[in-house]
Amino acid sequence: EAVLYIVATPIGNLDDMVPRALKILQSVDVIAAEDTRHSSRLMQHFSITTPMIACHDHNEEYVAEKLIEKLRQGEQIALISDAGTPLISDPGYRVVTQVRDAGFKVVPVPGACAMVAALCASGLPSDRFIFEGFLPAKESGRRQRLQRVVDETATLIYYESPHRIVASLSSIAEVFGGDREVVLARELTKTFETIKALPVAEMVAWVESDRNQQKGEIVLLVRGAPKREQGEALDAETLRVLKILAAEVG
Ligand code: SAM
Repeated sequence: EAVLYIVATPIGNLDDMVPRALKILQSVDVIAAEDTRHSSRLMQHFSITTPMIACHDHNEEYVAEKLIEKLRQGEQIALISDAGTPLISDPGYRVVTQVRDAGFKVVPVPGACAMVAALCASGLPSDRFIFEGFLPAKESGRRQRLQRVVDETATLIYYESPHRIVASLSSIAEVFGGDREVVLARELTKTFETIKALPVAEMVAWVESDRNQQKGEIVLLVRGAPKREQGEALDAETLRVLKILAAEVG
């Protein structure tokens, strides 16, 4: 049966490659990879010789058509990205949608994912969380995106570029207030893995003072807003209006 496998690869430590993923990558007819040059190093390491084709954000719709043709011929395909789980801030969404719409089976082969790794070691509540992907590069866009979730009580998870970590932390401090706890999860599964929790104002100072903290790959988690107690749920404006109405009714 023709199948498209969505295969996770490591986010740093190559020992995180799962045996099932290795078997599938070796046995499929073709691997669709975000960056074939990047992934060929991984394939070499595991002695996988399956041919690869490029599938990135700019050619995804075209590649989806080609993959569907291959599936029609009964071929087995694996989709991988540069690191971690495809589709999670990575290409693959359009391929999966089109392949499923064409009536073919899509099978996940789970493995490493930076946001899950970060969350489970962060110490922040994990019963409800929101993955927000990358924050916008421009300050105004970034503040708007943060403003939308300022009262959110679930844990917030962001992917962050090392070049923007100080700017993003500063925006978080401004929008959420300097006391809001954040967790910086950097270089997960690698030699310089760091997981540090601080109020965001202190985190800005710490990251600014230590250039090493502005390097590598980063997941940023933000503790959700405190849940309001019952009876505290009315904001000041609503209370003001209610008091006026109560006086009128008298
Ligand atoms: N698909 C990947 C996944 O499953 O996590 C994410 C791809 S996204 C283009 C790359 C971002 O993921 C990085 O900028 C960083 O925010 C995060 N990331 C990837 N590997 C990481 C690691 N080892 N430690 C911390 N963050 C990582």
